[in-house]
Amino acid sequence: MNESTAGLGRRAFLGGALASVGGLALAGRGDAQAGSEQGRNPFVYHFRIGEIDAWSISDGYMTFREPLGLMWPEEGRGAMREWLESRGEPLDRMTMYINVLVIRIGSEVVLFDAGFGPRPSAELGWFVEEGLRQIGISPEEVTAAFLSHAHADHLGGFVREGRPTFPNAAFHALPEEYAFWHDKEPDFARSKRAKGPLPGMIRQVRAEFEVLKPVYQPVRDGASLFGGAVTVEAAPGHTAGHAIFRIRSGRESLLHLMDLAHHHGFMFHDPSWTIEFDHDPELAVRTRKVVFARAAAERTRCYGFHLPWPGLGQVQGLQTGAARGLDHAGAHVLGSWLRCLASSHSCRRAMPWRAFTRGRQPVASWKARVSET
Ligand SMILES: [Zn+2]
Repeated sequence: MNESTAGLGRRAFLGGALASVGGLALAGRGDAQAGSEQGRNPFVYHFRIGEIDAWSISDGYMTFREPLGLMWPEEGRGAMREWLESRGEPLDRMTMYINVLVIRIGSEVVLFDAGFGPRPSAELGWFVEEGLRQIGISPEEVTAAFLSHAHADHLGGFVREGRPTFPNAAFHALPEEYAFWHDKEPDFARSKRAKGPLPGMIRQVRAEFEVLKPVYQPVRDGASLFGGAVTVEAAPGHTAGHAIFRIRSGRESLLHLMDLAHHHGFMFHDPSWTIEFDHDPELAVRTRKVVFARAAAERTRCYGFHLPWPGLGQVQGLQTGAARGLDHAGAHVLGSWLRCLASSHSCRRAMPWRAFTRGRQPVASWKARVSET
């Protein structure tokens, strides 16, 4: 780490222009490869969801200095430090992966977020198009694209040189997300984000939405597409219109958690630990608890945009009594709670989560699974 890179990371990311801040090399990708755009070779991991072919493409990773400074609440940082130390994790940097999911359903090729888009960085913007090329899919062959939310690491790759990167793809997002960024004054009052870079970030998002407007097709919470293969669920808090996705085929399913988790430890150890990028941290926590509890109770296979590549794993409830209680409380109820959260603040108080968050015991953990193929 030298003078010129010191202090970058969080701030640069907030401004949508993350620069290399040094740090980790992923398995098999040494620093010798770093720096050359040509030399980069996005990881592509194939797996199946029932009859559906799926691929996890790595768009790289972000390295943040001072991970604890990014995390809230402040009084939880001692416990967070303990978590890192007890597992031999670094205290001076945090790696956040960028995993892009692609699935093929018959003649449909469907993308879930698009990464940063190509950037001359050793760490990120590894060119999702190149990953698709490795699979044998051209940008023109992508027929549908879902956006979870409009932060640069998710939206950037959808626009290339002022045009849609995937010209034949319908571009789906929740209308709440579109509306938030087009509000006269998008409300960041609850967010712990630094406020300085926000005007630039808002301008950037609006410009990219403008490019995508001709192909934008809003989808509502609960929308089911491709014969029920993909269901959209509102998961607000990280942003106002943050969405997660459930993919089903036969008896198998995959829950794409998107930005409900930014780290394989923190948010699972204590779902009330939040990252400063959340627009509404309290709502993000409530949503996370609902979704994690449901995923643990149902033993759903999950996929995380920011979790260690290839991003596959399971949320495990560690308080088995609470998890079992949820089974009886009715997993079917939880979906409506989530929808309730999206629209109303008043229902929050009645959330049946006291048991699940009781005490200082960890309530969940992330178990990586990479044996699907
Ligand atoms: Zn993200």
